[in-house]
Amino acid sequence: MKGRSDWLKVCPVYAFDTICINQNRHGIGTKSRHASCDHFLISNGGEKIFQKKIATEAHMKISTISLVVPAFNEGEKIYDNLAEMLHAANQANLANDSACAFELIVVDDGSADNTAEEVARLAISDTRVRCISLTRNFGKEAAIHAGLANALGDAVVVLDGDLQHPPALISQMLTFWRQGAFVVEAIKVEDPQKNGSNNRILANGFYSLFQRFSELDLRGHSDFKLLDRLVVDAYLALPEKLRFFRGIVTWLNYPSAQIPFSVPERAGGASKWNKLKLLAYAFNNISSFSSTPLKLVSLLGVFTLSFGAVIGTISLLQKFQGKSIDGFTTVNLLIIIIGGAILLSLGIIGHYIARIYDEVKARPSYMIKPKKSDKQ
Ligand code: UDP
Ligand code: MG
Repeated sequence: MKGRSDWLKVCPVYAFDTICINQNRHGIGTKSRHASCDHFLISNGGEKIFQKKIATEAHMKISTISLVVPAFNEGEKIYDNLAEMLHAANQANLANDSACAFELIVVDDGSADNTAEEVARLAISDTRVRCISLTRNFGKEAAIHAGLANALGDAVVVLDGDLQHPPALISQMLTFWRQGAFVVEAIKVEDPQKNGSNNRILANGFYSLFQRFSELDLRGHSDFKLLDRLVVDAYLALPEKLRFFRGIVTWLNYPSAQIPFSVPERAGGASKWNKLKLLAYAFNNISSFSSTPLKLVSLLGVFTLSFGAVIGTISLLQKFQGKSIDGFTTVNLLIIIIGGAILLSLGIIGHYIARIYDEVKARPSYMIKPKKSDKQ
């Protein structure tokens, strides 16, 4: 009987570190590539034990999983953190008793430090690692988009480069994915000790405002998600440029599974978000999912005109009773009528702009619920 190390020598397709390395430059392959990989293996290895394994699994597809990691100035710890992710990927293979081919795509989001060099250093020793460097810092959303657009996997896992999205959960994500979920979401469990922190209060405020305006509940959601290829393609097919990853995946609403997790401390470096950046991010995300703020202007116009009508009536009554100061009624009425009319007109224009905005985003008017057979 052969030991695991013998297996690795004879049969690269089961070697967790070198799956299908001969098939393409990224060391991974699609269904057809795997078919040729099987052929390659059979023609290279004559041993019975090996052929039997291939024969039983020849018709079974080996899944390719892409890990997408946005990274901005993470040089200090990125090498160790990525190594930890690859280790978790190997563990996921062992735990699931299946061989997935992994690729790890790091999107260097215009880092000013040695992030790209550190990733390149790891890529030399591990061919599963790839680095995509953006020309400048475009922000995390753009980095995730670039990663998804370049991922080749049947499923893609998006996770942060600072280990705040525990890679150990990848194994469980793959299990849910195999069981039929198209999206597996890691949901943040609130730490009661951090509940009172300023950031938590701000985040809760953002989520309830976001829910009110967009009718999507993102409480506890994070960017740590596994997406089936079908979902990745649907995400990439949307033409909008300013994206909110979490929001869009929730909006697409493919059958999903949730895994609760508590966010660990950052492994190296510091958070890249300050209060101002977070505020701008929150406003962008609300406005990209709702045109309600634009429509609120017409409500304000109606309210101003109604309130003005009451004040105007009182002013006129005082005028007829001879109680008002000369000219005051005219000025009052003019301000009320002009102010209300301007706001109401702006509101009507706002409605049309909201329609244009929705059309420009060009989100599909419906999504068809996938069948289990649509899964990769
Ligand atoms: N990140 C990025 N571009 C940015 C900001 C952040 O790619 O402009 C990456 C960062 O390197 C990390 C992830 O996004 O891998 C999450 O960022 P961070 O840890 O700063 O956010 P927090 O965990 O505080 O929400
Ligand atoms: Mg973080």
